[in-house]
Amino acid sequence: MQKNYVTGFARIGEKRELKKILENFWSNNCNFSDVEEVAHELKKRHWLYQKDAGITYISSNDFSLYDNMLDLSITLGAIPQRFRALDGEDLYFAMARGNKDLTACEMTKWFNTNYHYIVPELSLEDEYKLNATKIINEYNEAKALGIKTKINLIGPITFLGLSKRVDRGDTYALHAKILPIYEQLLQELSKLDDEITLQIDEPIFVTDLDTKVLSLIKPTYDTLATVSDNIKIAVVTYFEHANEAVKVLVNTPIWALGLDFVHGKENLDSLDLIAGSAKTLIAGVVDGRNIWKNNITQTIEVLNHITTKIVKENLLIGSSCSLLHTPFTLKYEKTMHTDIKSWLSYGVEKLDEIALISKLFFEGKESLNKEEIEKLKTHETASTSRASSSLIHDQKVQSKVSNLTKMQREGLYKDRIKIQKSLLGYKPLATTTIGSFPQTPQIRQARRDFKNGTIDEATYRNHMRNYIDHCITFQEECGLEVLVHGEPERNDMVEYFGEQLNGYGFSQNGWVQSYGSRCVKPPFIYGDVSRQKAMTVDWITYAQNQTNLIVKGMLTGPVTMLNWSFVRDDLPRSEVSKQIALAICDEVDDLQQAGIKIIQVDEAAFKEGYPLRKSKIPTYEAWAVRDFKLSVSSAKEQTQIHTHMCYSEFNDIIKTIESMDADVITIETARSGNELLKIFQKVGYAQEVGPGVYDIHSPRIPSVEEIVVQIKLLLEVLPKEQLWINPDCGLKTRKWDEVNQSLKNMVKAVQIVREELS
Ligand code: GLN
Ligand code: ZN
Repeated sequence: MQKNYVTGFARIGEKRELKKILENFWSNNCNFSDVEEVAHELKKRHWLYQKDAGITYISSNDFSLYDNMLDLSITLGAIPQRFRALDGEDLYFAMARGNKDLTACEMTKWFNTNYHYIVPELSLEDEYKLNATKIINEYNEAKALGIKTKINLIGPITFLGLSKRVDRGDTYALHAKILPIYEQLLQELSKLDDEITLQIDEPIFVTDLDTKVLSLIKPTYDTLATVSDNIKIAVVTYFEHANEAVKVLVNTPIWALGLDFVHGKENLDSLDLIAGSAKTLIAGVVDGRNIWKNNITQTIEVLNHITTKIVKENLLIGSSCSLLHTPFTLKYEKTMHTDIKSWLSYGVEKLDEIALISKLFFEGKESLNKEEIEKLKTHETASTSRASSSLIHDQKVQSKVSNLTKMQREGLYKDRIKIQKSLLGYKPLATTTIGSFPQTPQIRQARRDFKNGTIDEATYRNHMRNYIDHCITFQEECGLEVLVHGEPERNDMVEYFGEQLNGYGFSQNGWVQSYGSRCVKPPFIYGDVSRQKAMTVDWITYAQNQTNLIVKGMLTGPVTMLNWSFVRDDLPRSEVSKQIALAICDEVDDLQQAGIKIIQVDEAAFKEGYPLRKSKIPTYEAWAVRDFKLSVSSAKEQTQIHTHMCYSEFNDIIKTIESMDADVITIETARSGNELLKIFQKVGYAQEVGPGVYDIHSPRIPSVEEIVVQIKLLLEVLPKEQLWINPDCGLKTRKWDEVNQSLKNMVKAVQIVREELS
């Protein structure tokens, strides 16, 4: 008897079929019934993949046309006021994406992944009402194909924890309103079959819960687990350990607990309790968030350890989380180095791994057939080949890392800034931008043509240089003071550098859903990272030669390079980050030697890498800051180092950002309602800072007046000598026309404020 379990599967389709049909539908090129048809085919295919692999517990309701938190809001009838006149797909997609009259619901990151969910908007006044149609239909859809699924449902505590109150209050205060809807839902589900297995996802249990939230767990699960005799409930967590919640859950009448033993090793501490409660344990041992083949020998060791406490009858072997977070299938990777490909395992391959591990573990090696033995061998070979491959292990990099002595640049900020100010001669409230200018269809085409070999290097370079010329002239005309080259040669701030670094790999089809129909194809770091040659010097020096104003060099920092990639699992992240920092450090030096006076090292994803557990934050911060400083350690005192961070809450980490010791940081504030400004006032900030004065994420053009107001707000908290004026992020997603007007307004606003000040 196979006893394995898959938390959930990806939905976008191995050829991104869902993306394509949705986008067609949104541009009125097909009907909704076409979308439903594709959705049905995808669900069917995904169920069959799992069935054929030999998975025991296959999910329904893990599919979604946009997002499963949004699906849940619809199920619970949590429809914000402004959408109430709509229904069906109009309602659904309006909540997800807005329409011509209504703004969409907010979207934010799902824990520490790059998946984004639609934030439920709740209010005390709202009447919630069950709509179980989607869940019931999906269950029956699978059943009609002969597949009896477990039903996936995000739990009430996670739902509340991730919601926001439009009437400004505590979301958990709505627990008493929401729980009865869940109860009704379970009653409906109990009618579907003789026995129903219900997976309730409670990933919020892996965060540091306060006692008030912890106290909700027992009443919630005492209630839900007794709604009906024929429903078995598995409470599933992932991304970290859930030890506090487990203590409570073992005393509720649920059937099983799902724990992540890849990203939450501390879950091992709960084994005694679980064993004592005789609950079933779903052990997440195959990493749902990474792309490496499972090291089966190590996994079996973990399982052996688990079964010193838990009896085998009470154990299921599963994925660490939903396979949503990993690419689909290796089948379409045709151009990858064969050694590298042999080390990888995407979603479909992970199904095989789960089935294989469970057969091996429960039934022994002698039970494996020929094909399975072959697979097991492939895994063993992959492990040994990775351990010794010269593609991975670079002695030079390793000795460079171990002989490191200079970890940070020379000179104190207070001395550096004086030298820089007199050398660079910029005024208070200096104007600049974050780096990129609009990516036009022409430059995208030119990059593609060059990649495909349809144009030669000289032609390509001409295209890019023309674009740079245009950016420089434009910025001069606008009256901007510190210029950028516009980043036309970059498709993406991580990919651009990854492609030039040893140790970085790229997939052809490694798409992962980011939100709705949007997918990203993260690069992966498989080996020791080093730089072959200068990566940006040609472009930046070309740009600098076109103007008498200063052009900033533009690099991506080590932490962002790491956080937006799949990272090797045979080295600690902090070590990989250090290697990247060293490569960037060389680039900083080359730029400065080439006469570049300001260098920006973007750390857009710095905040994203934060651990879910507070106790792990100091360690992360220590190496993340260390490696940023290392990456600019070659900068001379007179070279001004800038950094940029994208929007997210900075208030709690402002002192950490300060300790990165960048001379200037540009940062988002406008969109978060100037939250950051309060902290500047409260605790102060040592270095210069450019809190973005307008939101580039919207096509709206900010007026001169509103930017004046924004600058004056900044001046209330920081002296003008410490302030830079800039948009809040790169401009690559905007149109030239918008950028033109917005930046001109920004420059004019600065002129007005400067005149008033003088
Ligand atoms: N320099 C990059 C740009 O302007 C920064 C992008 C980002 O912060 N995400 O596009
Ligand atoms: Zn940004």
